[in-house]
Amino acid sequence: MLKDVSRRQFLGTVGAGVAGTALGAFGFDGAGEALAASIRPFKLAQTTETRNTCPYCSVGCGIIMYSKGADKAAGKLGKIMHIEGDPDHPTNKGTLCPKGSALLDFVTADTRTKYPMVRKPGSDKFERITWDQALDRIARLMKEDRDANFIAKNKDGQTVNRWTSTGFLAASATTNETAWMTYKVVRSTGMVVFDNQARV
Ligand code: SF4
Repeated sequence: MLKDVSRRQFLGTVGAGVAGTALGAFGFDGAGEALAASIRPFKLAQTTETRNTCPYCSVGCGIIMYSKGADKAAGKLGKIMHIEGDPDHPTNKGTLCPKGSALLDFVTADTRTKYPMVRKPGSDKFERITWDQALDRIARLMKEDRDANFIAKNKDGQTVNRWTSTGFLAASATTNETAWMTYKVVRSTGMVVFDNQARV
């Protein structure tokens, strides 16, 4: 049944069929069938497919990452060889804009930030720190700033509960539910400066 045929099998069958038909039209009887039987597996045949979301903008296009050496049980993605639009994703249906189409370069770029870095006061260089250190530092600095600058009431005595001295930039490559939760957490602190859409 058609629904049991994977996308890759479908493309392989169509590719072999087109090649066979074309050779048959040139008079090479049987050549088409031989070609179809010997057609080599696609270069992605040995790769692992992992679905994800393009990280650039709030359109949130679905992507498929093809990798070698992946071990999903161990949480290892392996080496990503190819990235393309996810044809089953309701937002983009397989398409990607130029930024999304260049995602492989983004993943493999030498300049890509892969871990938290900090430039301490008075220092002229960034240093690598752990995620725990980064989260502790961010939480502590946020608390100190909020304690010092939270505005409970405005000058007319009205309750406003505003915190305007720190801003929060969240990720757009997320689900509606995660975005909703992020919004609730950030707004519950009184933070006004907040963006959950990557305008970059
Ligand atoms: S940057 Fe392009 S590919 Fe990525 S989510 Fe936005 S529109 Fe889709």
